Amino acid sequence: MSTRPDKHHPTTLRPFSQAVHAGNQVDPGSRAVRTPLILANSYELPEDPSSISWSSSEHTLYTRNGGANQKLLQQKLALLDGGEDSVVLSSGVAALHAVFFTLLKSGDHVVIADQTYEASFRLFTELLPEKYGIEATFVDTSDLDAVRAAIRPTTVLLHTETIANPTTRLADIAALAEIAHSAGVLLSVDSTFTPPPLSRPLLDGADLVIHSLTKYINGHGDAMGGSVIGSAELIGRIKADAMVDVGGVISPFNAWLITRGSVTLPLRLRQHVASAQRVAEFLDAEPRIAYVFYPGLPSHPQYELATRILPHGAGAMIAFAVDGDPDAQNRFVSNLRVVTSAVSLGHDESLIVHVGTSGPRVAHYPEQFKRYGHLRFSVGLEDADDIIDDLRAALDATF
Ligand SMILES: *Cc1c(COP(=O)(O)O)cnc(C)c1O
Repeated sequence: MSTRPDKHHPTTLRPFSQAVHAGNQVDPGSRAVRTPLILANSYELPEDPSSISWSSSEHTLYTRNGGANQKLLQQKLALLDGGEDSVVLSSGVAALHAVFFTLLKSGDHVVIADQTYEASFRLFTELLPEKYGIEATFVDTSDLDAVRAAIRPTTVLLHTETIANPTTRLADIAALAEIAHSAGVLLSVDSTFTPPPLSRPLLDGADLVIHSLTKYINGHGDAMGGSVIGSAELIGRIKADAMVDVGGVISPFNAWLITRGSVTLPLRLRQHVASAQRVAEFLDAEPRIAYVFYPGLPSHPQYELATRILPHGAGAMIAFAVDGDPDAQNRFVSNLRVVTSAVSLGHDESLIVHVGTSGPRVAHYPEQFKRYGHLRFSVGLEDADDIIDDLRAALDATF
């Protein structure tokens, strides 16, 4: 018997409908059909509150234990990613820290991808080893033998990104989950470049998935947030340890904005991906471009893997450089008139940032990145022809 789709039971809905209806409910007070913004810090207690644990997030009692707007967003994100529960925090980095802080103690060992977001890299090269005695080995997570060899008896966690920021290297989550679990190790995946429905790492065996909500899930460049999704047991520990007692909680307003932004997530991703594919093909065919990394191009070293694990598209992040020195990269960026030079990604507008060749992370990057530096390009929702015309005109003005 097939289940009839019902917005009151979002598990019966397909992904586009879930994005519209999950995390929203008719407000019982006003009967407004959109959940209002609830700014209170405190919620009325039951008649006998004496048995409530003040570190718990079960009761809605104080916004640092989880406010009303945050809880609805958590339900929605857990559903979209196929997890039992989720926790939403103030930023993507707060979410990463919450995972590491909750799971790790002194003497524990972590295997982490050697191409990652800046904060993850610095947390495991400097901060966590120096402050807390946590050990880390950086590996190429596309080399499964290297991952196996890096695991020690003290390894607790394997951490990777589905598509690495900024190099676009892919991780085969199902294969990594098998390696991790056969050694009794947990797998956490930062899937910020590939939000659902592009990728759902929990269904491939990951234990925890992390998103910077600041990026595609909010999608409008006007609110920061981060989330972790996984089993009720692991998320419960993260809420108790890292949310309530460390306190990187999201504001109700940002939770409300992100809930609203996420309504169009699948629709926006469809356009981001289609435009990124066209833009990447344009760059790939352009002789004034030194190199292009985009997993949807046959020239990408892991194109076969991308077509297998990302059937709905390879995201919308492109790494490339113009054929010239750092000055030429800067001139090219300053000649753009549609694309904006700014950090962040996954916004409605196209964003580009010229990343140089200095800093410890670059040692782990492909040769082309070391030679030319790279432009990290987040393909936005403008008309793809406007983006391509802008890139062409900026090249003409540069060379
Ligand atoms: C941006 C980003 C983060 C950090 O998110 P913030 O919301 O900026 O704290 C983490 N991981 C990846 C892959 C990112 O791109």
